[in-house]
Amino acid sequence: MLTIEPIVRLTTQLARLPGIGQKSAQRLAYHILDTPLAQAQELAAAIIAAREKVVDCPICGTYTDVSPCGICADTGRDGSILCVVCDAKDVIAMERTREFHGKYHVLHGVLSPVDGVGPNDIRISELVERVKAGGIKEVILATNPDVEGEATASYIARLLKPMGVSCSRIAHGIPIGGNLEYTDEVTLAKAMEGRRPL
Ligand SMILES: [Zn+2]
Repeated sequence: MLTIEPIVRLTTQLARLPGIGQKSAQRLAYHILDTPLAQAQELAAAIIAAREKVVDCPICGTYTDVSPCGICADTGRDGSILCVVCDAKDVIAMERTREFHGKYHVLHGVLSPVDGVGPNDIRISELVERVKAGGIKEVILATNPDVEGEATASYIARLLKPMGVSCSRIAHGIPIGGNLEYTDEVTLAKAMEGRRPL
């Protein structure tokens, strides 16, 4: 078996990326070897620049290259409503809806006793501090509708409610274009729970 050390090294690193198995990593490595040197250098430089220049916003925790981030700095947005999400990626998803005009708080994870993630491992104390500082009336808990996401939302609501802020949970249910017949019972039950008057 012919082993070429630099290719093995590249393949090993690519295989560490999420969703990339050994085969895909090898395919990508050979693709990179087939591209012009300048393009490979640009890829390497882009990875390093993103990693070095992008930081957590000191206020909301989302990824940014300016401090504070554009959303926190935007005086046109409603600072009295906070949308709490697990990941910086979720901010992008929420912004795509163009429906939310408040501000964000990124937890950088969810509570997961199984994985040893407790309240001190995610940005919960930072959220409490923001609420303590005043000016926040409503906190929307937009964690994922899975076991950890639900537990995290309930935990945060229990902490914040005594501080006089209203806590709400995003509704979840049947996707647009979905079909009742093919919807699983947990989703359907959640949809019933989250019903609203017409
Ligand atoms: Zn921010």
